[in-house]
Amino acid sequence: MTARTGRAVVLEEFNAPLRLQEFPLPQAPDGGMTIACGYGGICGTDLHLQQGHLDIPVPLILGHEGLEVVRELGAGTHHDATGAPLAAGDTVMWASSIACGVCPPCRLHREPTLCERRRTYGVNRALADGPEHIVLQPGTTVIKVPDGTNPLAAMSLACAGPTVAHALYERRPVRLGETVVVQGSGPVGLAAAAFAQLAGAAKVIVVGGPAGRLDRAASAGIGDVHLDIVGATDPEEVLRQVRAATGAGGADLVIECAGVPAAVGQGLTLARRGGSYLIIGQYTDAGDTLINSHQIVHRQLDVVGSWAFTGAHLVEYVRLLPALTARFDLASLVTPYPLERHADALAAVADGSVMKAVLTS
Ligand SMILES: [Zn+2]
Ligand SMILES: [Zn+2]
Repeated sequence: MTARTGRAVVLEEFNAPLRLQEFPLPQAPDGGMTIACGYGGICGTDLHLQQGHLDIPVPLILGHEGLEVVRELGAGTHHDATGAPLAAGDTVMWASSIACGVCPPCRLHREPTLCERRRTYGVNRALADGPEHIVLQPGTTVIKVPDGTNPLAAMSLACAGPTVAHALYERRPVRLGETVVVQGSGPVGLAAAAFAQLAGAAKVIVVGGPAGRLDRAASAGIGDVHLDIVGATDPEEVLRQVRAATGAGGADLVIECAGVPAAVGQGLTLARRGGSYLIIGQYTDAGDTLINSHQIVHRQLDVVGSWAFTGAHLVEYVRLLPALTARFDLASLVTPYPLERHADALAAVADGSVMKAVLTS
């Protein structure tokens, strides 16, 4: 708490190694706070940012997922998003983005995730704006993490959990007794599967890969059936196995969390007639894909997309943490790396050899 400088991983140019830099610790802004670095998650989005797939300013301090200790509260900051009192030393998580509150989606459509001027820590706040990662501005949703929570468990689904909370709370819920197929076995896929189990799904089938990720999901207690489509020589055979595992001509709900365009054409064939298809994973524009649109009509599917999340969904995720950690071994999904090994961590996320990399100070 007495340190005068903090370190951060900086993206200086696209497709170049990131650099660890030291910054003077700033003052807490009125209505905001400063936090001491503890745990920073690496997300698939960080890879896209590093590779220049998104239009962002550089240099940029990367990282939009964190769990930290409050260092100093700015004037006027006394509570977290739920109204609980906040003090220096409390452990918190915070929402990565702040909606503007005045554009048509914010003001008229009640859809702040679609905000036209959303500012996101670690994505579109340039370094010129100051080292944002230890300064939380007024308007940031901050939520105290329950005492005794394993920080690695909380970080395991740091971005994925709120993303899935948005999808299930606002777009298409999981209903009691449903059979759910989840496409994808990265953090978003595992969050979808775990939430579906908590919500009372009768059976959750995870189809993804590579096999190591599916094994990790199974040993954490996430998903009832695990099928490897990434390593399969005949994906059609795997899709047949998925349909057979649903036991009733398809799932009540298919949740796409794969992020690969071809998954959408496959997913349409995995839902039962009258079922639903919830598409979450296509977060970056990876191009066109072939689908058989007859599947949508003949199966009379509800096809629903879901984009990002707001602070409210982070609050829901943190509220669910006790139930999630009681049932699933979330901490086992995380591989921690010291901050100096940020390049190794990013490489491991890129090649899928870890499920979730978290940098620790
Ligand atoms: Zn993320
Ligand atoms: Zn807005």
